[in-house]
Amino acid sequence: MKLLVLRGDGIGPEIVSAALTVAEALDRKFGLGLEFEDADFGHASIEKNGEPLPQATLERARACDGIILGPHHNVVYPPPYNQTIPPGGRMRKELDLYANIRPARNRPGVPAHVEGMDLVVCRENTEGFYSDRSMFAGSGEFMPTPDIALSVRKITRQSSTRIAETAFELARRRRGKVTIMHKGNVLHLSDGLFRDTALDVASRYPDVTVDEVLADALLALVVRRPRDFDVIVTSNLYGDFLSDLTAELVGGLGVGGSLNVGADVGAAQAAHGAAPDLMGQNVANPTAMILSVGMLLDWLAGRHGRTDLKDAARDLDGALDQQLAEAAGRTRDLGGPLDTDVFAVALAERISQA
Ligand code: ATP
Repeated sequence: MKLLVLRGDGIGPEIVSAALTVAEALDRKFGLGLEFEDADFGHASIEKNGEPLPQATLERARACDGIILGPHHNVVYPPPYNQTIPPGGRMRKELDLYANIRPARNRPGVPAHVEGMDLVVCRENTEGFYSDRSMFAGSGEFMPTPDIALSVRKITRQSSTRIAETAFELARRRRGKVTIMHKGNVLHLSDGLFRDTALDVASRYPDVTVDEVLADALLALVVRRPRDFDVIVTSNLYGDFLSDLTAELVGGLGVGGSLNVGADVGAAQAAHGAAPDLMGQNVANPTAMILSVGMLLDWLAGRHGRTDLKDAARDLDGALDQQLAEAAGRTRDLGGPLDTDVFAVALAERISQA
């Protein structure tokens, strides 16, 4: 099973390296037969190849089973790459990674702002308010005069259908509830289409409970009554905001795991960005990246009918619970003493010895 490794920018190389330490421990323990291959991506690739996402990397991404994708920090790229579609976004578009799955749950002992949260944000990943995803040509953002800025948002029945199907399938494997997050009371056409399409899909899943909540109310309810939510399906930008909030509520951006999936390939990519303020200091929390790799293994298990991959993903989740339960086992952002690499080695040892 071939996994392509794209280390990315900022803290990317540090957290990806930590995730590989853990993935290798799982590979040894469960005999998974994982093969890791590096490819050029991000700032280092601009220096080497003149572009952040070379065609050769894209082709290798299409040919592999899964991708371990570090964050990118494109605002500091040299022109034109600071203005063009970022390499992570381009990867999602080229590989049609239409679903972004972002779980958030309380872990024993981890300081959190709420208790009882165990939910998954299921975010549409290919359209919405993102200016690089709305148009066949040109940008979805434009300025007719220096004092007016306009932004086009695209919602389609096709993309809304497939993200809703992803959410309902996911809910069947969890507690059987989907909440549709939208703002159809003011965005009657676009959010109305998203909501109505999701409700159409719901009619094919009579075993799953469905409800709909306005986006602004949902942001309050998820804090006040986190237990009410199982799977939340929503459009791109709302999902971006919501998943940062839910990650923060259960411990912070450093624990926000995330998987981008399409029909053919999955990419493990932490929910957070490149955190340039922490770069090169060996202090970033690699949990989000490690969790994302666990999600990738679990997705590959379902795709290939492999129980060993499923067992490995479950084992990792349990080991993370134990590792994070005591302050002494955590990185600094969660009040612990551990460096990025030390955390990864400790977790890998825990996995190997269990
Ligand atoms: P993007 O827009 O690319 O998602 P962002 O502007 O939201 O990026 P991030 O890089 O995600 O910013 O992170 C914001 C801040 O959160 C960082 O500057 C850092 O202090 C903190 N942070 C993010 N990830 C981690 C991590 N893995 N470990 C510890 N702190 C983190």
